[in-house]
Amino acid sequence: MLKRIAVMTSGGDSPGMNAAIRAVVRVAIHEGVEVWGIYNGYSGMYEDQMVKLDSRSVGDILQRGGTFLGTARCEHFRTVEGRQKAVDNLKSHGIEGLVVIGGDGSMTGAQLLSEMGIAVIGLPGTIDNDIWGTDYTIGFDTASNTVVDAINKLRDTASSHGRVIVLEVMGRNSGWIAMTAGLAGGAEHILIPEMSVNLDEICEELTHSHASGKKYSVVVVAEGAGSAVEIGKKIVAVTGLDTRVSVLGHIQRGGSPSVFDRILASTLGEHAVLALIAGLSNVMFGFRNGGVVTIDLADAIRHKRTIDPSMFRLANLLAK
Ligand code: ADP
Repeated sequence: MLKRIAVMTSGGDSPGMNAAIRAVVRVAIHEGVEVWGIYNGYSGMYEDQMVKLDSRSVGDILQRGGTFLGTARCEHFRTVEGRQKAVDNLKSHGIEGLVVIGGDGSMTGAQLLSEMGIAVIGLPGTIDNDIWGTDYTIGFDTASNTVVDAINKLRDTASSHGRVIVLEVMGRNSGWIAMTAGLAGGAEHILIPEMSVNLDEICEELTHSHASGKKYSVVVVAEGAGSAVEIGKKIVAVTGLDTRVSVLGHIQRGGSPSVFDRILASTLGEHAVLALIAGLSNVMFGFRNGGVVTIDLADAIRHKRTIDPSMFRLANLLAK
């Protein structure tokens, strides 16, 4: 039976990471396992920034976005020597198992660690929802709700003035936030990196819909599909419609986690600890078809998460 484990957050932060840390710490303590927190991801592992946590260390964090352990990117960890130093630090504290909460880069690091004799469990934590094997990542629901809230507010003003609003949201390589929030928020057009964008066609549809009585339109653009500023300029130039651009930015990364994210994080955190105790390693826990699933880290890393085309089709159909 392993005696001491550690937990860390890595890569981009996401709402619900704190809830996952809290669950890992309290489940571990309940199971009689000592738990340490590593500050600032692999950087803190490399720099030996880790402390023992107790139940009180994770009080008052459930409702907070971000991660109280901090998160960072660590170039040293990409080298064999850097990883060896990090593993030596873990071993010097008697840490035998590790829970890594982060995005796909962090999962790659986790897999490399598990090959070096540390038992590692990954938990998908990113607002982008771009990790293969799970329907949802921790933070995606909260970020999508933040975007829907912005769309609602932008609709109010767009409706009053009869404007086109172009809203840029996060998603350099993934259109999940744009597509989900666009569908939930009733956007007229959704531009995502996974689908080719025909701006001329969009301009034509905007002209047509406004001529046929649509009072206003919302265009949601994932940052990877193009710049909202440039798209806005083109819409004005081609259609002459009164258009405003809004870039939502890092607001999408923060905020109190939604009920869904808290429950997802808490449930996956519990599974991670119980899996380490049961002797598992090199896997990630995710949530698929209404239940928790175990995914080999190698699979999670190798495969690319694609968008759901039926959702995209429905969003377009309902926007007519
Ligand atoms: P995310 O986990 O959000 O995708 P990154 O891609 O920046 O964020 O990854 C977080 C950290 O994971 C990196 O700073 C690095 O320390 C580690 N990492 C990512 N990819 C690798 C890799 N191929 N080999 C070793 N470590 C990696």
